[in-house]
Amino acid sequence: MIMRIARINVEKESIEYEEIAKDSKFYLLGARGLTSQVVYDEVPPQCDPLGEENKLIIANGLLAGSPFPNSGRTSVGAKSPLTKGIKEANVGGRPAMMLAFHGLRALVLERKSSTLKLILIDNNSISLKDCKQYGGLGNYELHSKLRKEYGENIGIYSIGPAGEYLMKAASIAANDLEGYPSRHAGRGGLGAVMGSKGIKAIVIIPSSSSKVLINDIKKFRELSKPFAQKLVETKKNFSIYGTPNMVRGMSVLGGLPTKNFRMGSYDKAIEISGEKLHELVIARKGKKQVSCSPSCVIKCSNIILDKDGNHLTSSFEYETIFANGSNLLIDNIDHVAKIDHLCDDAGIDTIEFGVTMGVAMDNEKVSWGDAEKVFDILREIKKGSELGQLYGNGVCHLGEKLKAKRIPHVKGQGISGYEPRVFKAMSVTFATSPMGADHTSGAAIAGRTANKGKDYGELTEDKGKLELSYELQVYTTILDSMGCCYFIGPSYENMELITGVLNAMYNVNLNIEDVLNIGKEILKTEIKFNEKAGITQQMNEFPSFFRDEQSNPLDLTITFPKEDFKNFWRRLEE
Ligand code: SF4
Repeated sequence: MIMRIARINVEKESIEYEEIAKDSKFYLLGARGLTSQVVYDEVPPQCDPLGEENKLIIANGLLAGSPFPNSGRTSVGAKSPLTKGIKEANVGGRPAMMLAFHGLRALVLERKSSTLKLILIDNNSISLKDCKQYGGLGNYELHSKLRKEYGENIGIYSIGPAGEYLMKAASIAANDLEGYPSRHAGRGGLGAVMGSKGIKAIVIIPSSSSKVLINDIKKFRELSKPFAQKLVETKKNFSIYGTPNMVRGMSVLGGLPTKNFRMGSYDKAIEISGEKLHELVIARKGKKQVSCSPSCVIKCSNIILDKDGNHLTSSFEYETIFANGSNLLIDNIDHVAKIDHLCDDAGIDTIEFGVTMGVAMDNEKVSWGDAEKVFDILREIKKGSELGQLYGNGVCHLGEKLKAKRIPHVKGQGISGYEPRVFKAMSVTFATSPMGADHTSGAAIAGRTANKGKDYGELTEDKGKLELSYELQVYTTILDSMGCCYFIGPSYENMELITGVLNAMYNVNLNIEDVLNIGKEILKTEIKFNEKAGITQQMNEFPSFFRDEQSNPLDLTITFPKEDFKNFWRRLEE
């Protein structure tokens, strides 16, 4: 079956289908590759991100619906209301694979509806329905009502009230395999774009059969099965402890952002660590080693219960813990988990929110460590009050209102949980990614390399880090376009594997250079859109305090010449 793109005019409620035949420019563009191409081709770069000219594209990857491990992610793309540039945020959960089974590669939401609507996808059709009864609902209540109405096994993308109120830090939720709205395309305020279209939710009824075609299934399995087995064996520890396991290590390395990036180590890191979380999960009979999407074999996710055994949150991740724990000096893991739940419910990015609160505390609007006040603010976001608007529109919005001197962002997006003065390759990714400060664009975490045997220098020295970030960003763009979770590894050897599975699935004859060029062309497209939107290479830079103020305790600053960031993407032309 040929995959299709469904263009949904939400105003007229009309649907047009576009087949992705072998001669289509989208044939080898999935997920991020497809969302970025549609934004580049069809969204006027200077348009209002919340206006009718912007488009919201929801796409699965080239390997979606196949048994390739961890290939069930969705990319969401649009012009971002937060960065004003191109944005792709990807998310796990059920729905990506369900779209693929329906023969759908992407949904393109066009224009604006003046009333709140829901998009329903079933075996035969796509339709829109008025849904004002769901207006103002948090994601948890919404998902529960949708499951009651349409069945337990549906896939859902949705927004919380933050998206309806067009808050620039609003996220799009996807339901996980346990049924919770815990997976979020968080970054860049894409929930506000969905809200601006008037769409509260997209509901996918399970397909009666899969329409995914793998041309050479034998070859495909020969390549993907041993890889899946290798992931299971090598990621055992990661599977048990998940990303929160990084909290203590990052603090020891001096790179855990603490107290609005004033420190890189937190003396109470143990209280919010992966080890602490693990103890709680075991004691309260929560769940570890949970897959967030159907083909995941790594299973790094979790379900967290409160002390009374009730569900508190799911998919509780390192980035949420840094942003709302060490960054705010909140040392109670239950409080941080509750913040995660409230963010998921209101539909707000946990990273952007935590970084925003860090600036609020740094400017004495809220006391350090005051979790109760943070809960209150999240309730205000859910209500859409004036106070909620102040905190729900991203760190730059609040920082500018407060005339704050230290606003940790790049291109308008809050910096995530890796102190850039310490982790040099991550700093390059934050500075140069077309997506703003986004670790997922090229996550140079401690110990990660891109090419085996290549010398990228020590973690905290500049040597080799421009190269490392560049290679990781290209490889990650390719994984994003496959719909793969980057925890499978953005490495050269995995690019060789991807080349093989693409050839088997799509009956093409690519070599690794062809695949690398797909990634490079996607990045070029994103950079070209940004240039036209006014997000230039001059903006590849940190706020000055990262160069002027030494990190604590390692006394490091950003030392790359500004020109290195500005000229970074010239590598794409070499
Ligand atoms: S490894 Fe973790 S984030 Fe990646 S798909 Fe699996 S559960 Fe989701």
